[in-house]
Amino acid sequence: MDTGGDGKQFRIGDYEIDIIVHGFPGKSVCHGSLGFSTIALIRHGKRIALVDVGSFGQRNLLQEHLAERSLSPSDVTDVLLTHSHYDHSINWTMFGHANIVIGKAELDWSLEQPWGTTVVPELYVKELAKWPTMRTVGDGDEVFPGITAQLAPGHTPGCLVFTLDTGDGDMIFTGDACKNRAELLSRAADMTYDAAVTQASIEAIWALWLRRPGNILVPGHDLPMVQAEDGAPRYLGRREAAIRAWYGEDLNETTVISLLPE
Ligand SMILES: [Zn+2]
Repeated sequence: MDTGGDGKQFRIGDYEIDIIVHGFPGKSVCHGSLGFSTIALIRHGKRIALVDVGSFGQRNLLQEHLAERSLSPSDVTDVLLTHSHYDHSINWTMFGHANIVIGKAELDWSLEQPWGTTVVPELYVKELAKWPTMRTVGDGDEVFPGITAQLAPGHTPGCLVFTLDTGDGDMIFTGDACKNRAELLSRAADMTYDAAVTQASIEAIWALWLRRPGNILVPGHDLPMVQAEDGAPRYLGRREAAIRAWYGEDLNETTVISLLPE
């Protein structure tokens, strides 16, 4: 198993996995949600899956990352959505031809949310519900060859965790059931409708992660991790996060502000 020194590219068994966007574990202070979420590409035989597809701000990024691999959106055969929040799901419309998977409990709940009250993109979810290539799945269902869904409520009622079992190590995509390392270690979450339900889901994620040494955990808003020998999570790769701003008087003059700790 090649565990990807840059935390982005992995080859495990017959699977080639690119974490094309590393999620970021932060919120904006003054401007509402930030929504920098993880997007992963999985290639297996003739099938090409995306685990989550990001939001509007990630469209160009997604196109560029696919083009770097000589791929276009039309080459993607499967879209696996961990949950319906806008920063993970909105770009399903870029892949309307693909098999699109979402949790049944998640879709049902999303359709019931009063408009304008949550970060569920109401109209995108409404359209998805009647989309011919959409399939709802439940706990234990196989959603792609070698990938099984597990219901992990707490962040939303129908959040799914996807486990890729290659036979030579697992990769566990937690979505926002466990957004980052702090949530993993504290077994609590910043956004949850029920702390006990979240805690049980994070414990279940730990159990999946501990099942085999070397298993890789890919959170919805953080770098991938493996277990160090002392059992502590160890990040794979290096965090990159910054904002470019026009603070001067010349359009060509920009200031790059790092979002990394000092
Ligand atoms: Zn979310």
